[in-house]
Amino acid sequence: MVTDQLGNGYDVVVVGGGAAGLNGALMLARARRSVVVIDAGAPRNAPAAGVHGLLARDGIPPAELLERGRAEVRLYGGHVVSGEVETIARDESGFAVTLGDGRTVRARRLLVASGLVDELPDVPGLPARWGRDVVHCPYCHGWEVRDRAIGVLASGPMSVHQALLFRQLSADVRFFSHTMPPTDEQAEQLAARGITVVDGAVASLEIVEDRLVGVRLSNGTVISREVLAVSSRMVARAIFLAALGLRPVEHPSGAGEYIPADATGRTDVPGVWVAGNVTELTAQVGNAAAAGAMAGAQINADLVAEETREAVAAYREPFSPASEARVSELVTGDRRHGL
Ligand SMILES: Cc1cc2nc3c(=O)[nH]c(=O)nc-3n(C[C@H](O)[C@H](O)[C@H](O)COP(=O)(O)OP(=O)(O)OC[C@H]3O[C@@H](n4cnc5c(N)ncnc54)[C@H](O)[C@@H]3O)c2cc1C
Repeated sequence: MVTDQLGNGYDVVVVGGGAAGLNGALMLARARRSVVVIDAGAPRNAPAAGVHGLLARDGIPPAELLERGRAEVRLYGGHVVSGEVETIARDESGFAVTLGDGRTVRARRLLVASGLVDELPDVPGLPARWGRDVVHCPYCHGWEVRDRAIGVLASGPMSVHQALLFRQLSADVRFFSHTMPPTDEQAEQLAARGITVVDGAVASLEIVEDRLVGVRLSNGTVISREVLAVSSRMVARAIFLAALGLRPVEHPSGAGEYIPADATGRTDVPGVWVAGNVTELTAQVGNAAAAGAMAGAQINADLVAEETREAVAAYREPFSPASEARVSELVTGDRRHGL
């Protein structure tokens, strides 16, 4: 990607240039804030051919969407820089952000939009198919795999739910219980929806001519499948926040780890906001962008409040206790001189 020169200091440093970070930066740049997006260039949906379910841009390639976003940020004077943030430390007037290549930059506020890592089930051959015929999200890829032979690999707390959602898209869905057999209640739901449960551990995927053709069980049986839906464990990418006391915590759903924040993205650490998958594990591109925009606006409002407090203090300076004492001193002095 084209990359701007990194300045010394900004009102806001945005860590991560996916949908969340870029939309946050867009709001800030349009509010005439100095802002830089530092981006390591590995958005979560990079393996996917298109972004789906995004109004007015459905199917756009992920790289094209981000290129458009970067251009929009730059149009308003924002900077977008390639690099990986390694550490962030607090200093007297904000934050010192250090990149892996040794560059540093100062920030009054931080917007962290670094996304998450999908930790995939440990099945040989599976990671290479991720985003192609190994999928996770019915809203991202479901339409594209409609009416196909779909397998669902039990690999997380939402796997049965996932199978029921994919059943909406195809009548041919099989549930591979792998290491997580369904409960009796879940088995009844699957049966009632015509989803066959395949017992036994999954050993590998069968790939022919760069296409998934089946799922091999540890007993050697191959069940023919064209698509496999899996649940990843979703873990916020935020190790660089540790020195600020912000660490990913277990999500109540059991689906992974996230950085908690309020509805506007404000964290418990003053001056630090988060947006997108780093805090909302299930956010789609549209939600991530909206959260980034919200956080950007909130950061601007926070800076406006700080600047207004400072302006009021300066405005009041002629009437501050020190200047009142000076006025009284002058009046007394004037009387002494009989004026
Ligand atoms: C295979 C797949 C397909 C998907 N398809 C769809 C779809 O069709 N529609 C949809 O709405 N959603 C889809 N999603 C979900 C989508 O990927 C997320 O909603 C979206 O990427 C979240 O945006 P984000 O800005 O929070 O994070 P990301 O897009 O992941 O962006 C985070 C950015 O931060 C950077 N970064 C991380 N750490 C650092 C650091 N230390 N320093 C600097 N930069 C850093 C990363 O390199 C990355 O560029 C899909 C997900 C997957 C896995």
